[in-house]
Formats: sequence, C-alpha cells, structure tokens
Amino acid sequence: MSNIIAVSLEKGGVGKTTTVLNIGAGFTKLGYHVLLVDLDQQGHLSRWLGWQEDGKPAISELIYQEVSKIKTAEYQQFVRHSERENLDYIPANKMLGGIYAILGADGESNTVLRRIFHQEFFGAYDYIIFDCPTAVDNLLVSNALQCSDKLLIPVQAEKFAYDGIPLMLQRYMAIKQTNDIRPFLAGMLITMYNSRTTMSKEVREALIESYGELVFPEPIPMLQEARNSTNDESPLCGSLVGRKNSRVGQAYLAAAMRIAGEAK
Ligand code: ADP
Ligand code: MG
Repeated sequence: MSNIIAVSLEKGGVGKTTTVLNIGAGFTKLGYHVLLVDLDQQGHLSRWLGWQEDGKPAISELIYQEVSKIKTAEYQQFVRHSERENLDYIPANKMLGGIYAILGADGESNTVLRRIFHQEFFGAYDYIIFDCPTAVDNLLVSNALQCSDKLLIPVQAEKFAYDGIPLMLQRYMAIKQTNDIRPFLAGMLITMYNSRTTMSKEVREALIESYGELVFPEPIPMLQEARNSTNDESPLCGSLVGRKNSRVGQAYLAAAMRIAGEAK
C-alpha cells in the first residue's frame, strides 16, 4: 500500500520543490520505494532530477489519457528513473499549463489524479509525493489533495509566513470535506530557517504556539548549499540527503524519518 503525500502551499519560493526532492531522497535512503510526481508546469523538480525533454509523454499526457479515455501509452512509459537519486518520477513540462481546461471537462474533475494513482501506481511504491504548483484554488492542487493521505506544508521562516495559514487550512478542509484537518496533516516544516535572526525564531515560536506537534521539531536551515543544489546547470544539483556534512540534508532526513514514523 502506498502512502501518498501532497507538498503544497499557496506561496512561491518557500521551498516546496526542494522539500519534495529531499524528502523523496530521504525516504529512498530509509529503504523505501519512491515515486515523485511533478505537478508544476515550471518543471523544476524534473530538471533537478536531471530530466531533459525526451519527447516521451509527461504528466500532462497522463492526465489527458485519463480524461479522454484514449490510451496512447502504457503507464510505465510515464515513469522515469533517476540513477543519481535512485528513485522514480513523472516529469512535467509547459504542456501542463494547458491541462486545466481538460481537467475541467471531466465529469469528476477533482478525482482525476486519484483515479490514475490509486488504480495504476498504488501499491507499486511505498511513497508517492506530489510537488504542487504555487496555489490552493487550483484544479491540480485539489486533485493532488483528493488523491493524497497526507499534506505536508513547507513554511518559510519569514515575517507574516503564518498569517495566511488559518485561511489556507480552511480551504484545504473544504477540498477534503472535513472539519478536522489534523489527521490529514503530515505537518508543517519550517524551511529557510536562520538561527541567527530573531525573525526566524519568532516565526517558529508562533507556529509551535498555534500548531504544537504539527510543527516538525527540526527546521530546515537556510544555507547556500540548498541554493546550489537547485541549480540544474551545476554539478552540485541534486538532493542533499546523502551528501557528506550537509546540514540541510540531515534536517530533511530527520523530517523523512518523522513522517515514516522512524524518528527516535
Ligand atoms: P517553491 O517550490 O516553493 O517555489 P523552491 O523549492 O523552488 O520553492 O525554492 C525556492 C528557492 O529557494 C530556490 O532557489 C531554492 O534553492 C531556495 N531554497 C530552498 N530551500 C532553501 C534553504 N533551506 N536554504 C536556502 N535556500 C533555499
Ligand atoms: Mg516549486
């Protein structure tokens, strides 16, 4: 049985994609079989995994195939393997920008990803993680949430980061049609934490005061190594989890262990 996780927040540049890459690599390091799914037309995750346009079908074609019921490719053809990270992924490209009209045409437009992943990929992986686009009121995000058992929210350690969270949680609750979001939350992971600034500390304290144990105890430090790891033109591009002396990698591994229930 797979655990399916959506990584989502409506703000851009908070570390969503960095989190998907490193939590995925963390699960792999723990011995789990992992599939990452890029749901952002910018395709950062795909590129950071080393993907280059290969002319083969990507996530938009997979969605189109489900909505149209015209099967043009076998499911395995959508899956790529990253040798470096030792995990599988389904890439995204700009074509995904055109998928909203297609999704909207489906009679059950919120459950397209659920149909695909629960029927075809469920059971083949221990963890499936969706890298959501920067939005909440968005058909791809609501599809990812409908398909997932857990929601992981990266929160950047900066001013006002937590102000929008209550409203955002309400919108997630509406999508999941629940009055209690807690069981659905894998947690809030503080990213880009700078222990030298009072701002970072204040954000962390405010989050813990409001959300208690839902906040991961170990924040992800803000470090240049993370920026270097997301430059797809650099040989340093890739997850930091296995990298020697990487503090960001160690913090992400701790988060992965906590999600997997392996935290000490
Ligand atoms: P999102 O997917 O939410 O838009 P990204 O994961 O693309 O966010 O991250 C945005 C930028 O912040 C990237 O340039 C990335 O390298 C940088 N970044 C992410 N995490 C960290 C960190 N812990 N320390 C420093 N920079 C970070
Ligand atoms: Mg992103």
